Amino acid sequence: MINIKTIKLKIEDRQKQIISRLKRLRREDPLATEDRSIIVEPGTDAAVLFSHEKTVIMEERLKDDLTEIASALGKIKKGTYGKCENCGKPIDLKRLEVKPQAVYCVKCKGEVEKKKR
Ligand SMILES: [Zn+2]
Repeated sequence: MINIKTIKLKIEDRQKQIISRLKRLRREDPLATEDRSIIVEPGTDAAVLFSHEKTVIMEERLKDDLTEIASALGKIKKGTYGKCENCGKPIDLKRLEVKPQAVYCVKCKGEVEKKKR
């Protein structure tokens, strides 16, 4: 059996890490201004733009992770943690150990990702 308390701590830990990574990304983004708005002016240096776009993609990924984490934490509260959101089957424990915030089983995760694209 998995220890839900350990898992919860793991997830919360990851949540903190992601939030601080997001903050760091913001600081590193050459086009992010103090008020967090992003201004892309015509003639912006290509290297700057590229670095900005990379940051945006990474940010998106981290935000996706945060959404999953929030959902996993909500499930722990409700006592439905560890069940796949799509098919309702229990998620493989090994998978939860590697990715405690997972809300889909491996099979459904693949399908959901395919739909996204
Ligand atoms: Zn599933």
